Amino acid sequence: MLNLAGLVGDSIVDGPGIRMTVFGQGCPHRCKGCHNANTWSFEGGTRMEEQEVLRIIMSNPLAKGVTFSGGEPFAQAAGFARLADLLKDNGYEVASYSGYTFEELYHGTKEQQDLLRRIDVLIDGRYEEDKRSLTLVYRGSTNQRIVDVKRSLEKGEVVEIKSGRWCGEY
Ligand code: SF4
Repeated sequence: MLNLAGLVGDSIVDGPGIRMTVFGQGCPHRCKGCHNANTWSFEGGTRMEEQEVLRIIMSNPLAKGVTFSGGEPFAQAAGFARLADLLKDNGYEVASYSGYTFEELYHGTKEQQDLLRRIDVLIDGRYEEDKRSLTLVYRGSTNQRIVDVKRSLEKGEVVEIKSGRWCGEY
């Protein structure tokens, strides 16, 4: 069961191509200048089964990718891992934002490590207002990284995506 702040279809700002974005409810990071402060509280939100979220996503035939956003998806790691499994079984590219860094998640709880292993791309790190840049693609501040999760797990250290569709090059 997931607790969601919302689902947005046809998103073009949370990753390349037409995507669905799934917003978790609840975030422990409380970054100054956060644009989604309504998702901080762990109260409220809408509780949904992972299968129901998949059904809604699959009702959009244009979406080829899904991005988890927040809130903090890794605060509900077990539920988002179940959703990631369903999405991968159906051929979606799965990305996730997180206020945690790759290194924190790599050494995080078992549930966080399980979710990390299931996603393709991680945009990591807290939003740091003094590092805000409007020229960044899919990121808010320059400390955040776009991480190739599979290659990073193979190498045991962060491999950033520095070119291609995740950098706005089509
Ligand atoms: S991690 Fe994201 S949702 Fe959470 S406070 Fe920071 S910017 Fe907002």
